[in-house]
Amino acid sequence: MKIWLQRATHPGEVDVEETCSICGIEFERGVVRIDALTDERYEIGPMCEVCLDYFSRRQHETAVAHDWPSREKYVDAVLLYPTPMVGSRDELPDDTNPAEYDEFYGAAVIHR
Ligand SMILES: [Zn+2]
Repeated sequence: MKIWLQRATHPGEVDVEETCSICGIEFERGVVRIDALTDERYEIGPMCEVCLDYFSRRQHETAVAHDWPSREKYVDAVLLYPTPMVGSRDELPDDTNPAEYDEFYGAAVIHR
């Protein structure tokens, strides 16, 4: 499994009710989203902060080298990026300019 941290790109992505794809408990997504993916990078779904903490603490107990972010890294990211990247959905880049689009969404990634 891979765990990604990514900034909210616009306000519509913040304060959204989600169901954790790992524990099944509902939580409210903040300015930084946590996503679980398979090792082949297929989307598993959103992950809550509690599951992130659990997996990041347990990752050193296996022989497999994981690179899961710590809860501290998540908390630091929330403090570092208190707002979405743009103020409204209208400000999002469209894919008519692939370089700008890739740069914008690449900048959203905190941990991959
Ligand atoms: Zn969970």
